[in-house]
Amino acid sequence: AAKEAVLTVNNIEVVYDEVILVLRGISLEVPQGEIVTLLGPNGAGKSTTLKAISGLLKTEDGKVTRGNVTFMGENITNRPPEEIVRKGIFQVMEGRRIIEDMTVVENLRLGAYTRRDRGIRKDIDMVFDYFPRLKERTGMAGYLSGGEQQMLAIGRAMMARPKMILLDEPSMGLSPLLVKEVFNIIRSINREQGITMLLVEQNANMALHACSYGYVMESGKIVLDGNREELLSNEDMKEFYLAGG
Ligand code: ATP
Repeated sequence: AAKEAVLTVNNIEVVYDEVILVLRGISLEVPQGEIVTLLGPNGAGKSTTLKAISGLLKTEDGKVTRGNVTFMGENITNRPPEEIVRKGIFQVMEGRRIIEDMTVVENLRLGAYTRRDRGIRKDIDMVFDYFPRLKERTGMAGYLSGGEQQMLAIGRAMMARPKMILLDEPSMGLSPLLVKEVFNIIRSINREQGITMLLVEQNANMALHACSYGYVMESGKIVLDGNREELLSNEDMKEFYLAGG
């Protein structure tokens, strides 16, 4: 039997600035403990979909105007981002968004801002176990390489002890070798920590190999979906998204 969905996006429409319709009825499901990927060209609405889930849409004057988002059976549509973080969903934004004039450890502590428990120092060590090279960087985060900043952004998300991480283009700006490394770590975090993931990617090859199920978006709609094997062997996928890969 199919695993139960922890996150359900049910036919949502999203409007920016009260007039610009960007999502035209998006539905998707993410089962507990799995990696689901959302693919599609620039401007299709992938980031908007993640922001509609995390509540960050609000900070850009966007709003879900139809449909709903439920997480663990609870309606979270248009709830504020802090509330959604407390419920266990953490978004790693595109372009990393680490604080450049803070150290690695200070950035990691920021990820734990909603926590009141005493396990924070232990979790910093856990993040360093996944990303050993971050441990060696003692200066300001602004001096980290692009790949290291991406690792720090993921580590910061882990510090919130989330049930689910939304990842927006973790491969962006990284060399092929680093993309591989980052994806391997993402997969081990999913496996070992049991964190459910929704992954937005331009790099369809990497994303499809990491996921169990995928959706393809174009112009604010889902145009194709299927499990990894179905998508990897789909003719349109091969022609438009996997060419050369
Ligand atoms: P990319 O990979 O380029 O980020 P995407 O699939 O993630 O593409 P979105 O960033 O979600 O696409 O953008 C979808 C559409 O919404 C685009 O046409 C974009 O111009 C528009 N859009 C995004 N953010 C805003 C905003 N804050 N206000 C108005 N329109 C926006």
